[in-house]
Amino acid sequence: MSGYIVGLTGGIGSGKTTVANLFHDLGVQSVDADLVAREVVMPGEPALAAIVEHFGAGILQQDGQLDRAVLRAKIFADAAEKQWLNQLLHPLIRQRLLQQLQQCTSSYALLIAPLLLENKLQTYTDRVLVVDVPEVLQLSRTMQRDQVPAEQVQNILQSQIARPERLHLADDVLLNTVPVFELQPQIQQLHSRYQQFAKEKLAKSST
Ligand code: ATP
Repeated sequence: MSGYIVGLTGGIGSGKTTVANLFHDLGVQSVDADLVAREVVMPGEPALAAIVEHFGAGILQQDGQLDRAVLRAKIFADAAEKQWLNQLLHPLIRQRLLQQLQQCTSSYALLIAPLLLENKLQTYTDRVLVVDVPEVLQLSRTMQRDQVPAEQVQNILQSQIARPERLHLADDVLLNTVPVFELQPQIQQLHSRYQQFAKEKLAKSST
């Protein structure tokens, strides 16, 4: 089990996946909160049954999967419904995140979560690494990646924690304005540091 957890966060399109892949190349395992959030509402999961009971069968696609667009529209229009959904899903997501983190065997593991700080998941991490880029770059990279209009990205951007606040809560900041290959030396440096921290924590816990 990895005894040391680094929370990897950043705004939409900041480069979390790109950075996580560079850590993976160094053998670092990770758990992705977005993937876990999808897992807990897969067909057969109790949470999906609860959602259907609450919102009706119209919340499902023909193939039995959750219709995320319909659900998003419902909770966007109604704060109480959003709260109901969060109260259902957040504990399940947390539980599964922790289970998966416990299965990681690298000297430290990454918890990749766009909303790490918004959802206070940093309570489960030893350190917070923020991938940071100016908003204009978040906008242009996301628009290009997802082929979506600026307004859509702006809306998501505004629903996330403000950049200065995110930076204030960071232990480490990786500025992702350079070409990807130029990130490698910084990733290597962070990797060495995290390995050292993990070793120190392990030594402390065994004394
Ligand atoms: P989201 O929060 O939306 O899941 P993310 O933070 O995981 O996004 P990525 O998908 O890693 O972000 O990056 C967003 C886009 O920017 C991708 O198309 C990626 O290839 C590109 N990108 C990331 N880093 C760089 C970089 N250093 N130089 C150029 N393009 C980059």
